Amino acid sequence: MAIHKTAAIVLHSQKQGETSKILLLYTRQFGTISLMVKGAHNIKGKQWGALQTLSRVQLVFYHRENRSLHYGQQVDLEDPYKKIHNSLGKTVLASIPCEIILKAEEREHPNSRLFDLLQQTMEGLENKESGLRNIIRCFEWQYMELTGIKPRLDRCLQCGNTAIEEKHTLLIDQGGLACLACAPPGLALLPISGKALAYFRWLDQIALDRSDQAQISGTLGKEIDFLLLTFMRYHVETLKNLSSLQLVESLRDTLPKDAQE
Ligand SMILES: [Zn+2]
Repeated sequence: MAIHKTAAIVLHSQKQGETSKILLLYTRQFGTISLMVKGAHNIKGKQWGALQTLSRVQLVFYHRENRSLHYGQQVDLEDPYKKIHNSLGKTVLASIPCEIILKAEEREHPNSRLFDLLQQTMEGLENKESGLRNIIRCFEWQYMELTGIKPRLDRCLQCGNTAIEEKHTLLIDQGGLACLACAPPGLALLPISGKALAYFRWLDQIALDRSDQAQISGTLGKEIDFLLLTFMRYHVETLKNLSSLQLVESLRDTLPKDAQE
């Protein structure tokens, strides 16, 4: 058994008896891992209760070769993301990137840039009070870039036109854009408005911590969410059903305004 140290975000935490927890973590060095931790032995008393889904930790653990469950030796709580836990809207939004990573990423397949993106997303939700939905859209967009499925939207794939027209066509399987007149016959086509195109080009230019600043209407937001989801589902089989997104949709009218925008 090798001992390792890594930063991690808790994707899921489940009590195991009175004194143990099984954590599903996204770690910086090892990707997604499952870990058994014992309260009295591995964690300071005060931190035990705060060690829950959506918290950020530093951990030392025994890696068991060819086993899917590893043993925590020491877990130090770095950020419990209190403001996320105190807001239903923030909690529901934070569960979206966690579910995408859980469903789409192979176990123990490290991607430090994805870890950093997840941590920035959590910090954005923790520290900002408006435009929160745009932080999640930016996560999804940058996730598609990290996994190589992001469509190229800077020009028409057919004629090279870079201008933003009122309407374009998104070529889902080719991962690109076409003017209406240039769109080749095929099934995997989606209409995309000039405003949605402008939003995605803006997302390409900015850092995640500025993504909350976008001012977009509810109608445009729905179009953007539909395009992002359709594109991710088409290219990543395991993202067909995202219960966190369904929950956001079903709560759309009851969530606080900060989580809707
Ligand atoms: Zn064209």
